[in-house]
Amino acid sequence: MAQAQRDLAVVIGLEVHIQLETDTKIFCDCSTEPADEANTQTCPVCLGLPGSLPVLNEAAVEAAVKVGKAIDADIPEETRFHRKNYYYPDLPKNFQITQYDEPICQDGRIEFSVESERRSVGIRRAHLEEDPGSLRHKGGSIDTAEYTLVDYNRAGVPLMEVVTEPDFRGPGEVRSFLSKLEEVLEYLDVFDAARDGSLRIDANLSVVEADALDGGIDEDRLAAANRTEVKNISSHKGAQKALSYEAQRQKNAIKRGREVQQETRHWDESRGITVSMRSKEEEKDYRYFREADLPPLQVSNWKDQVEIPELPDARRERFQGEYGLSAEAADKLTSTKQVADFYEAVTSEFDPDLAATWVADELLGELNYRDMTITDITDRLGEVTRLVELVAEEEITAKNAREVVLRGMLDDGHDPDIIVEREGLGKTGGDAVETVVEQVIDQNPGAVEDFHAGESGALNYLVGQVMQATGGSADPGEVNQLLREQL
Ligand code: ADP
Ligand code: MG
Ligand code: ZN
Repeated sequence: MAQAQRDLAVVIGLEVHIQLETDTKIFCDCSTEPADEANTQTCPVCLGLPGSLPVLNEAAVEAAVKVGKAIDADIPEETRFHRKNYYYPDLPKNFQITQYDEPICQDGRIEFSVESERRSVGIRRAHLEEDPGSLRHKGGSIDTAEYTLVDYNRAGVPLMEVVTEPDFRGPGEVRSFLSKLEEVLEYLDVFDAARDGSLRIDANLSVVEADALDGGIDEDRLAAANRTEVKNISSHKGAQKALSYEAQRQKNAIKRGREVQQETRHWDESRGITVSMRSKEEEKDYRYFREADLPPLQVSNWKDQVEIPELPDARRERFQGEYGLSAEAADKLTSTKQVADFYEAVTSEFDPDLAATWVADELLGELNYRDMTITDITDRLGEVTRLVELVAEEEITAKNAREVVLRGMLDDGHDPDIIVEREGLGKTGGDAVETVVEQVIDQNPGAVEDFHAGESGALNYLVGQVMQATGGSADPGEVNQLLREQL
Protein backbone atom coordinates (compact mmCIF):
# COMPACT_ATOMS: atom_id res chain seq x y z
CA MET A 1 0.00 0.00 0.00
CA ALA A 2 1.28 3.46 -0.82
CA GLN A 3 2.34 5.34 2.24
CA ALA A 4 0.05 8.28 1.71
CA GLN A 5 -2.98 6.00 1.79
CA ARG A 6 -2.08 4.24 5.00
CA ASP A 7 -4.40 4.95 7.87
CA LEU A 8 -2.28 5.46 10.92
CA ALA A 9 -3.52 4.66 14.42
CA VAL A 10 -2.12 5.84 17.70
CA VAL A 11 -1.36 3.20 20.35
CA ILE A 12 -0.63 4.19 23.94
CA GLY A 13 0.28 2.25 27.06
CA LEU A 14 0.92 3.84 30.45
CA GLU A 15 3.15 3.31 33.43
CA VAL A 16 1.52 5.32 36.19
CA HIS A 17 3.26 5.89 39.51
CA ILE A 18 0.94 6.64 42.36
CA GLN A 19 1.93 7.57 45.86
CA LEU A 20 0.15 5.38 48.38
CA GLU A 21 -1.08 7.32 51.38
CA THR A 22 0.71 5.91 54.39
CA ASP A 23 2.02 7.72 57.47
CA THR A 24 5.50 6.27 57.17
CA LYS A 25 7.77 5.20 54.34
CA ILE A 26 7.66 1.75 52.80
CA PHE A 27 10.80 0.29 54.43
CA CYS A 28 11.42 2.53 57.47
CA ASP A 29 9.63 4.64 60.08
CA CYS A 30 10.36 8.03 58.52
CA SER A 31 7.35 10.26 57.98
CA THR A 32 5.90 10.73 54.49
CA GLU A 33 4.52 14.18 55.30
CA PRO A 34 5.98 16.97 53.18
CA ALA A 35 8.64 18.83 55.17
CA ASP A 36 9.79 22.44 54.88
CA GLU A 37 13.41 21.53 55.17
CA ALA A 38 15.25 19.10 52.91
CA ASN A 39 16.75 15.88 54.28
CA THR A 40 14.99 16.09 57.64
CA GLN A 41 12.93 12.92 57.23
CA THR A 42 15.62 10.39 56.63
CA CYS A 43 17.29 7.53 58.44
CA PRO A 44 20.00 4.96 57.67
CA VAL A 45 17.46 2.76 55.84
CA CYS A 46 16.12 5.32 53.37
CA LEU A 47 19.60 6.83 52.98
CA GLY A 48 20.88 3.39 52.08
CA LEU A 49 23.65 3.39 54.67
CA PRO A 50 25.66 0.17 54.95
CA GLY A 51 24.29 -2.33 57.43
CA SER A 52 20.77 -0.92 57.54
CA LEU A 53 17.91 -3.29 56.83
CA PRO A 54 14.49 -2.60 55.28
CA VAL A 55 11.30 -3.60 57.13
CA LEU A 56 8.15 -3.72 55.02
CA ASN A 57 5.37 -1.30 56.00
CA GLU A 58 2.14 -3.29 56.25
CA ALA A 59 0.02 -0.24 55.48
CA ALA A 60 1.58 -0.10 52.02
CA VAL A 61 0.76 -3.76 51.42
CA GLU A 62 -2.80 -3.23 52.56
CA ALA A 63 -3.19 -0.27 50.20
CA ALA A 64 -1.77 -2.31 47.30
CA VAL A 65 -4.16 -5.17 48.01
CA LYS A 66 -7.06 -2.72 48.01
CA VAL A 67 -5.97 -1.44 44.61
CA GLY A 68 -5.63 -5.00 43.33
CA LYS A 69 -9.13 -5.88 44.43
CA ALA A 70 -10.59 -2.70 42.98
CA ILE A 71 -9.07 -3.31 39.55
CA ASP A 72 -10.02 -6.97 39.58
CA ALA A 73 -6.42 -8.13 39.44
CA ASP A 74 -4.95 -11.51 40.30
CA ILE A 75 -3.23 -11.30 43.65
CA PRO A 76 -0.85 -14.24 44.05
CA GLU A 77 -0.30 -16.34 47.14
CA GLU A 78 3.19 -15.00 47.40
CA THR A 79 4.97 -11.97 46.06
CA ARG A 80 8.54 -10.73 46.38
CA PHE A 81 10.86 -7.78 45.96
CA HIS A 82 13.78 -7.21 43.59
CA ARG A 83 16.63 -4.77 43.32
CA LYS A 84 16.66 -2.63 40.20
CA ASN A 85 20.19 -1.39 39.80
CA TYR A 86 21.07 1.95 38.31
CA TYR A 87 23.20 4.90 39.20
CA TYR A 88 21.61 8.28 39.70
CA PRO A 89 22.15 10.89 42.43
CA ASP A 90 18.58 10.62 43.72
CA LEU A 91 19.07 6.93 44.46
CA PRO A 92 21.28 6.63 47.55
CA LYS A 93 21.66 2.83 47.47
CA ASN A 94 22.34 2.71 43.73
CA PHE A 95 19.41 0.36 43.49
CA GLN A 96 15.69 0.74 43.92
CA ILE A 97 13.70 -1.87 45.80
CA THR A 98 10.84 -2.73 43.48
CA GLN A 99 9.07 -5.81 42.16
CA TYR A 100 9.92 -7.70 39.05
CA ASP A 101 8.49 -11.02 37.91
CA GLU A 102 6.27 -11.62 40.93
CA PRO A 103 4.32 -8.39 41.36
CA ILE A 104 1.55 -8.06 43.91
CA CYS A 105 -1.11 -7.51 41.20
CA GLN A 106 -1.46 -8.88 37.68
CA ASP A 107 -4.06 -8.94 34.92
CA GLY A 108 -6.49 -6.33 36.12
CA ARG A 109 -8.91 -4.07 34.31
CA ILE A 110 -10.23 -0.56 34.60
CA GLU A 111 -13.44 0.57 32.94
CA PHE A 112 -14.16 4.20 32.23
CA SER A 113 -16.23 6.40 29.93
CA VAL A 114 -15.06 8.59 27.11
CA GLU A 115 -17.77 10.93 25.92
CA SER A 116 -20.39 8.53 27.33
CA GLU A 117 -18.87 5.55 25.55
CA ARG A 118 -17.65 2.70 27.76
CA ARG A 119 -14.01 1.72 27.43
CA SER A 120 -11.97 -0.88 29.19
CA VAL A 121 -8.21 -0.99 29.57
CA GLY A 122 -6.20 -3.97 30.71
CA ILE A 123 -3.83 -3.59 33.64
CA ARG A 124 -0.83 -5.76 32.93
CA ARG A 125 0.60 -5.45 36.41
CA ALA A 126 0.69 -3.19 39.43
CA HIS A 127 3.60 -3.42 41.80
CA LEU A 128 5.00 -1.87 44.97
CA GLU A 129 8.23 0.08 45.02
CA GLU A 130 10.06 2.84 46.82
CA ASP A 131 10.34 6.37 45.48
CA PRO A 132 13.84 7.77 44.92
CA GLY A 133 14.73 11.19 46.33
CA SER A 134 14.11 14.41 44.46
CA LEU A 135 16.53 16.70 42.70
CA ARG A 136 16.37 20.49 42.77
CA HIS A 137 18.09 22.02 39.80
CA LYS A 138 19.31 25.47 40.82
CA GLY A 139 19.45 28.31 38.36
CA GLY A 140 17.77 26.48 35.51
CA SER A 141 16.33 23.22 34.28
CA ILE A 142 17.95 19.80 34.16
CA ASP A 143 20.27 20.79 31.30
CA THR A 144 20.99 24.42 32.18
CA ALA A 145 21.22 24.44 36.00
CA GLU A 146 24.36 25.71 37.72
CA TYR A 147 24.19 23.02 40.34
CA THR A 148 21.72 20.52 41.74
CA LEU A 149 20.61 19.74 45.30
CA VAL A 150 19.27 16.40 46.43
CA ASP A 151 16.47 15.95 48.95
CA TYR A 152 16.04 12.43 50.30
CA ASN A 153 12.79 13.16 52.15
CA ARG A 154 10.96 11.47 49.30
CA ALA A 155 13.31 8.50 49.20
CA GLY A 156 11.39 5.47 50.41
CA VAL A 157 7.90 6.89 50.01
CA PRO A 158 5.65 4.01 48.92
CA LEU A 159 4.63 3.95 45.29
CA MET A 160 2.51 1.68 43.25
CA GLU A 161 3.39 1.44 39.59
CA VAL A 162 0.40 0.57 37.46
CA VAL A 163 1.31 -0.71 33.99
CA THR A 164 -1.47 -0.83 31.42
CA GLU A 165 -1.74 -2.85 28.25
CA PRO A 166 -1.28 -0.78 25.09
CA ASP A 167 -5.05 -0.41 24.90
CA PHE A 168 -5.44 3.34 24.47
CA ARG A 169 -6.19 4.71 21.03
CA GLY A 170 -5.77 8.41 21.73
CA PRO A 171 -4.75 11.08 24.25
CA GLY A 172 -8.37 11.82 25.17
CA GLU A 173 -8.86 8.26 26.37
CA VAL A 174 -5.77 8.55 28.52
CA ARG A 175 -7.16 11.60 30.22
CA SER A 176 -10.50 9.93 31.00
CA PHE A 177 -8.68 6.86 32.27
CA LEU A 178 -6.52 8.91 34.63
CA SER A 179 -9.59 10.59 36.09
CA LYS A 180 -11.20 7.23 36.65
CA LEU A 181 -8.05 5.77 38.17
CA GLU A 182 -7.79 8.66 40.62
CA GLU A 183 -11.46 8.40 41.44
CA VAL A 184 -11.10 4.73 42.34
CA LEU A 185 -7.93 5.34 44.34
CA GLU A 186 -9.59 8.11 46.31
CA TYR A 187 -12.60 5.91 47.03
CA LEU A 188 -10.15 3.38 48.43
CA ASP A 189 -8.66 6.11 50.58
CA VAL A 190 -5.12 5.22 49.48
CA PHE A 191 -4.33 8.29 47.41
CA ASP A 192 -4.41 12.07 47.62
CA ALA A 193 -4.58 13.77 44.24
CA ALA A 194 -3.89 17.14 45.85
CA ARG A 195 -0.54 16.02 47.19
CA ASP A 196 2.38 17.35 45.21
CA GLY A 197 3.93 14.66 43.00
CA SER A 198 1.40 11.99 43.97
CA LEU A 199 0.81 11.03 40.32
CA ARG A 200 3.59 10.64 37.77
CA ILE A 201 3.10 9.17 34.36
CA ASP A 202 5.38 7.59 31.79
CA ALA A 203 3.51 7.17 28.54
CA ASN A 204 4.50 4.85 25.70
CA LEU A 205 3.27 5.80 22.28
CA SER A 206 3.60 4.28 18.86
CA VAL A 207 1.91 4.90 15.55
CA VAL A 208 0.94 1.75 13.65
CA GLU A 209 -1.02 0.93 10.53
CA ALA A 210 -4.70 0.99 11.35
CA ASP A 211 -5.58 -2.27 9.65
CA ALA A 212 -3.41 -3.99 12.18
CA LEU A 213 -5.97 -3.01 14.77
CA ASP A 214 -9.10 -4.15 13.00
CA GLY A 215 -11.19 -6.35 15.21
CA GLY A 216 -8.39 -6.92 17.66
CA ILE A 217 -4.77 -6.26 18.28
CA ASP A 218 -2.08 -7.76 16.19
CA GLU A 219 0.30 -8.51 19.04
CA ASP A 220 3.30 -9.04 16.82
CA ARG A 221 2.90 -5.78 15.05
CA LEU A 222 2.44 -3.93 18.33
CA ALA A 223 5.53 -5.53 19.75
CA ALA A 224 7.52 -4.71 16.65
CA ALA A 225 6.39 -1.08 16.48
CA ASN A 226 9.01 1.45 17.46
CA ARG A 227 7.67 3.42 20.38
CA THR A 228 8.80 6.30 22.49
CA GLU A 229 8.43 6.55 26.23
CA VAL A 230 7.52 10.06 27.34
CA LYS A 231 8.58 10.84 30.89
CA ASN A 232 7.94 13.68 33.31
CA ILE A 233 4.17 13.90 32.93
CA SER A 234 2.48 14.88 36.16
CA SER A 235 -1.10 15.83 35.35
CA HIS A 236 -4.09 14.67 33.32
CA LYS A 237 -3.94 17.72 31.14
CA GLY A 238 -0.19 17.32 30.76
CA ALA A 239 -0.70 13.73 29.62
CA GLN A 240 -3.18 14.74 26.99
CA LYS A 241 -0.98 17.55 25.70
CA ALA A 242 2.25 15.55 25.72
CA LEU A 243 0.64 12.63 23.91
CA SER A 244 -1.09 14.82 21.33
CA TYR A 245 2.26 16.39 20.57
CA GLU A 246 4.05 13.07 20.45
CA ALA A 247 1.42 11.44 18.21
CA GLN A 248 1.70 14.27 15.73
CA ARG A 249 5.49 14.19 15.83
CA GLN A 250 5.57 10.49 15.02
CA LYS A 251 2.95 10.78 12.29
CA ASN A 252 4.94 13.58 10.68
CA ALA A 253 8.08 11.48 10.76
CA ILE A 254 6.31 8.52 9.16
CA LYS A 255 4.75 10.70 6.47
CA ARG A 256 8.20 11.96 5.60
CA GLY A 257 9.39 8.38 5.31
CA ARG A 258 11.56 8.52 8.42
CA GLU A 259 11.64 5.80 11.00
CA VAL A 260 10.57 6.64 14.56
CA GLN A 261 13.44 6.03 16.95
CA GLN A 262 12.81 3.83 19.96
CA GLU A 263 13.80 6.22 22.73
CA THR A 264 12.96 7.94 25.98
CA ARG A 265 11.68 11.48 25.62
CA HIS A 266 11.15 14.22 28.17
CA TRP A 267 7.92 16.25 28.29
CA ASP A 268 8.86 19.91 28.53
CA GLU A 269 5.72 21.35 30.05
CA SER A 270 6.63 25.00 29.58
CA ARG A 271 7.56 24.62 25.93
CA GLY A 272 4.79 22.12 25.23
CA ILE A 273 7.09 19.71 23.38
CA THR A 274 8.79 16.36 23.95
CA VAL A 275 12.58 16.23 23.63
CA SER A 276 14.87 13.27 23.17
CA MET A 277 16.61 12.22 26.41
CA ARG A 278 18.38 8.99 25.68
CA SER A 279 17.96 5.71 23.88
CA LYS A 280 15.54 3.54 25.79
CA GLU A 281 17.16 1.42 28.46
CA GLU A 282 16.65 -2.30 28.24
CA GLU A 283 15.69 -4.58 31.02
CA LYS A 284 19.14 -6.13 31.12
CA ASP A 285 20.60 -2.72 31.90
CA TYR A 286 19.01 -2.93 35.32
CA ARG A 287 20.52 -6.26 36.40
CA TYR A 288 17.45 -7.21 38.42
CA PHE A 289 18.03 -9.62 41.25
CA ARG A 290 16.11 -10.71 44.30
CA GLU A 291 16.13 -8.46 47.37
CA ALA A 292 17.60 -10.85 49.90
CA ASP A 293 16.96 -8.50 52.84
CA LEU A 294 13.20 -8.93 52.48
CA PRO A 295 11.59 -12.36 52.73
CA PRO A 296 8.91 -13.35 50.20
CA LEU A 297 5.59 -11.85 51.25
CA GLN A 298 2.62 -14.14 51.77
CA VAL A 299 -0.32 -12.10 50.49
CA SER A 300 -3.06 -14.73 50.50
CA ASN A 301 -4.19 -13.77 54.01
CA TRP A 302 -4.27 -10.12 53.15
CA LYS A 303 -6.39 -10.86 50.13
CA ASP A 304 -9.06 -12.45 52.31
CA GLN A 305 -8.98 -9.91 55.09
CA VAL A 306 -8.67 -6.56 53.37
CA GLU A 307 -12.02 -5.10 52.45
CA ILE A 308 -12.82 -2.41 49.94
CA PRO A 309 -15.76 -0.01 49.91
CA GLU A 310 -18.42 0.21 47.24
CA LEU A 311 -16.68 1.61 44.16
CA PRO A 312 -17.80 4.59 42.07
CA ASP A 313 -19.43 2.62 39.22
CA ALA A 314 -21.44 0.44 41.57
CA ARG A 315 -22.44 3.42 43.65
CA ARG A 316 -23.49 5.37 40.56
CA GLU A 317 -25.75 2.54 39.50
CA ARG A 318 -27.21 2.16 42.96
CA PHE A 319 -27.93 5.88 43.19
CA GLN A 320 -29.97 5.64 40.00
CA GLY A 321 -31.85 2.56 41.15
CA GLU A 322 -32.33 3.37 44.81
CA TYR A 323 -32.97 7.10 44.61
CA GLY A 324 -34.32 7.34 41.06
CA LEU A 325 -31.67 9.84 40.05
CA SER A 326 -30.76 10.66 36.47
CA ALA A 327 -27.43 9.35 35.19
CA GLU A 328 -26.14 12.90 35.18
CA ALA A 329 -27.11 13.58 38.80
CA ALA A 330 -25.73 10.20 39.91
CA ASP A 331 -22.47 11.03 38.13
CA LYS A 332 -22.08 14.31 39.96
CA LEU A 333 -23.06 12.87 43.29
CA THR A 334 -20.55 10.04 43.11
CA SER A 335 -17.69 12.13 41.76
CA THR A 336 -15.91 11.63 45.06
CA LYS A 337 -16.63 9.36 47.97
CA GLN A 338 -17.03 12.40 50.21
CA VAL A 339 -19.71 13.92 47.98
CA ALA A 340 -21.54 10.59 47.78
CA ASP A 341 -21.41 10.12 51.55
CA PHE A 342 -22.58 13.67 52.04
CA TYR A 343 -25.50 13.19 49.68
CA GLU A 344 -26.58 9.97 51.30
CA ALA A 345 -26.51 11.60 54.71
CA VAL A 346 -28.65 14.52 53.53
CA THR A 347 -31.08 12.39 51.55
CA SER A 348 -31.73 10.07 54.48
CA GLU A 349 -33.96 12.86 55.79
CA PHE A 350 -35.48 14.26 52.64
CA ASP A 351 -36.82 13.51 49.23
CA PRO A 352 -33.88 12.21 47.13
CA ASP A 353 -34.59 14.63 44.29
CA LEU A 354 -34.63 17.64 46.54
CA ALA A 355 -31.44 16.52 48.27
CA ALA A 356 -29.85 15.89 44.86
CA THR A 357 -30.70 19.39 43.66
CA TRP A 358 -29.26 20.95 46.78
CA VAL A 359 -26.10 18.89 46.96
CA ALA A 360 -25.29 18.33 43.27
CA ASP A 361 -26.37 21.67 41.84
CA GLU A 362 -26.52 24.35 44.49
CA LEU A 363 -23.90 23.24 46.99
CA LEU A 364 -21.29 21.85 44.59
CA GLY A 365 -21.81 24.84 42.31
CA GLU A 366 -21.24 27.36 45.07
CA LEU A 367 -18.28 25.39 46.43
CA ASN A 368 -16.71 25.15 43.01
CA TYR A 369 -17.15 28.88 42.50
CA ARG A 370 -15.13 29.44 45.69
CA ASP A 371 -12.46 26.89 44.81
CA MET A 372 -13.65 24.77 47.70
CA THR A 373 -14.56 21.10 47.84
CA ILE A 374 -16.95 19.08 49.89
CA THR A 375 -14.13 18.13 52.25
CA ASP A 376 -14.01 21.78 53.35
CA ILE A 377 -17.51 21.47 54.78
CA THR A 378 -17.89 17.84 55.84
CA ASP A 379 -18.11 18.98 59.45
CA ARG A 380 -21.07 21.19 58.52
CA LEU A 381 -23.32 18.40 57.30
CA GLY A 382 -25.91 19.35 59.94
CA GLU A 383 -26.06 22.92 58.65
CA VAL A 384 -26.53 21.87 55.05
CA THR A 385 -29.22 19.45 56.16
CA ARG A 386 -30.91 22.28 58.02
CA LEU A 387 -30.76 24.46 54.91
CA VAL A 388 -32.50 21.77 52.86
CA GLU A 389 -35.03 21.37 55.65
CA LEU A 390 -35.80 25.09 55.57
CA VAL A 391 -36.51 24.77 51.85
CA ALA A 392 -38.41 21.49 52.18
CA GLU A 393 -40.72 23.00 54.79
CA GLU A 394 -41.11 26.14 52.74
CA GLU A 395 -39.74 28.24 55.55
CA ILE A 396 -37.65 30.16 53.05
CA THR A 397 -37.81 30.47 49.30
CA ALA A 398 -35.35 28.51 47.17
CA LYS A 399 -34.01 31.79 45.84
CA ASN A 400 -33.21 33.11 49.31
CA ALA A 401 -31.85 29.74 50.35
CA ARG A 402 -29.38 29.83 47.51
CA GLU A 403 -28.53 33.49 47.18
CA VAL A 404 -28.56 34.54 50.79
CA VAL A 405 -28.33 31.60 53.15
CA LEU A 406 -26.04 29.20 51.29
CA ARG A 407 -23.68 31.94 50.16
CA GLY A 408 -23.64 33.38 53.68
CA MET A 409 -22.87 29.97 55.07
CA LEU A 410 -19.88 29.57 52.78
CA ASP A 411 -18.60 33.13 52.85
CA ASP A 412 -19.03 33.96 56.53
CA GLY A 413 -19.22 30.48 58.02
CA HIS A 414 -22.56 31.19 59.68
CA ASP A 415 -25.28 28.80 60.68
CA PRO A 416 -28.35 28.89 58.37
CA ASP A 417 -30.76 29.76 61.18
CA ILE A 418 -28.64 32.71 62.19
CA ILE A 419 -28.58 33.98 58.62
CA VAL A 420 -32.32 33.53 58.26
CA GLU A 421 -32.92 35.54 61.39
CA ARG A 422 -30.31 38.17 60.64
CA GLU A 423 -31.64 38.75 57.15
CA GLY A 424 -35.25 38.63 58.30
CA LEU A 425 -36.01 35.82 55.90
CA GLY A 426 -38.38 32.99 56.38
CA LYS A 427 -42.07 32.75 56.99
CA THR A 428 -41.74 33.10 60.73
CA GLY A 429 -39.13 35.81 60.39
CA GLY A 430 -41.09 37.76 57.79
CA ASP A 431 -44.40 37.24 59.53
CA ALA A 432 -43.02 38.30 62.83
CA VAL A 433 -41.63 41.52 61.45
CA GLU A 434 -44.84 42.24 59.61
CA THR A 435 -46.88 41.77 62.78
CA VAL A 436 -44.61 44.11 64.70
CA VAL A 437 -44.89 46.70 61.94
CA GLU A 438 -48.70 46.54 62.21
CA GLN A 439 -48.54 46.89 65.97
CA VAL A 440 -46.19 49.87 65.82
CA ILE A 441 -48.48 51.60 63.34
CA ASP A 442 -51.48 51.00 65.63
CA GLN A 443 -49.66 52.25 68.68
CA ASN A 444 -48.24 55.43 67.13
CA PRO A 445 -51.09 57.31 65.44
CA GLY A 446 -49.29 60.60 65.96
CA ALA A 447 -46.22 59.56 64.06
CA VAL A 448 -48.41 58.06 61.34
CA GLU A 449 -50.17 61.37 60.98
CA ASP A 450 -46.84 63.21 60.82
CA PHE A 451 -45.68 60.79 58.13
CA HIS A 452 -48.74 61.50 56.01
CA ALA A 453 -48.19 65.20 56.57
CA GLY A 454 -44.79 64.75 54.95
CA GLU A 455 -42.65 65.09 58.04
CA SER A 456 -39.40 63.38 57.22
CA GLY A 457 -38.41 62.25 60.73
CA ALA A 458 -41.63 60.30 61.28
CA LEU A 459 -40.64 57.28 59.24
CA ASN A 460 -37.28 57.00 60.93
CA TYR A 461 -39.01 57.12 64.28
CA LEU A 462 -41.33 54.26 63.30
CA VAL A 463 -38.43 52.21 61.95
CA GLY A 464 -36.72 52.73 65.27
CA GLN A 465 -39.78 51.52 67.14
CA VAL A 466 -39.94 48.32 65.06
CA MET A 467 -36.23 47.70 65.50
CA GLN A 468 -36.58 48.09 69.22
CA ALA A 469 -39.56 45.74 69.36
CA THR A 470 -37.68 43.03 67.41
CA GLY A 471 -34.59 43.38 69.53
CA GLY A 472 -32.63 44.60 66.55
CA SER A 473 -33.05 41.34 64.64
CA ALA A 474 -35.11 42.80 61.80
CA ASP A 475 -33.52 44.17 58.66
CA PRO A 476 -33.92 47.99 58.73
CA GLY A 477 -34.27 48.15 54.95
CA GLU A 478 -37.04 45.62 54.99
CA VAL A 479 -38.76 47.36 57.91
CA ASN A 480 -38.57 50.62 56.03
CA GLN A 481 -40.19 49.03 53.02
CA LEU A 482 -42.90 47.26 55.03
CA LEU A 483 -43.78 50.49 56.80
CA ARG A 484 -44.06 52.41 53.55
CA GLU A 485 -46.27 49.66 52.12
CA GLN A 486 -48.60 49.63 55.10
CA LEU A 487 -48.72 53.36 55.55
P1 ADP B 1 9.42 -2.42 28.50
O1 ADP B 1 9.89 -3.78 28.89
O2 ADP B 1 10.14 -1.85 27.36
O3 ADP B 1 9.23 -1.49 29.65
P2 ADP B 1 6.76 -3.34 28.52
O4 ADP B 1 6.35 -4.48 27.70
O5 ADP B 1 7.00 -3.50 29.98
O6 ADP B 1 8.01 -2.68 27.85
O7 ADP B 1 5.69 -2.25 28.31
C1 ADP B 1 5.84 -0.98 28.86
C2 ADP B 1 4.66 -0.15 28.44
O8 ADP B 1 4.66 0.04 27.04
C3 ADP B 1 3.32 -0.77 28.78
O9 ADP B 1 2.52 0.23 29.36
C4 ADP B 1 2.77 -1.16 27.45
O10 ADP B 1 1.37 -1.05 27.41
C5 ADP B 1 3.37 -0.17 26.53
N1 ADP B 1 3.46 -0.63 25.13
C6 ADP B 1 3.84 -1.84 24.69
N2 ADP B 1 3.81 -1.88 23.33
C7 ADP B 1 3.41 -0.65 22.91
C8 ADP B 1 3.18 -0.05 21.64
N3 ADP B 1 3.36 -0.69 20.49
N4 ADP B 1 2.77 1.24 21.62
C9 ADP B 1 2.59 1.91 22.75
N5 ADP B 1 2.78 1.41 23.97
C10 ADP B 1 3.19 0.14 24.06
MG1 MG C 1 8.68 -1.31 31.73
ZN1 ZN D 1 13.97 6.42 56.73
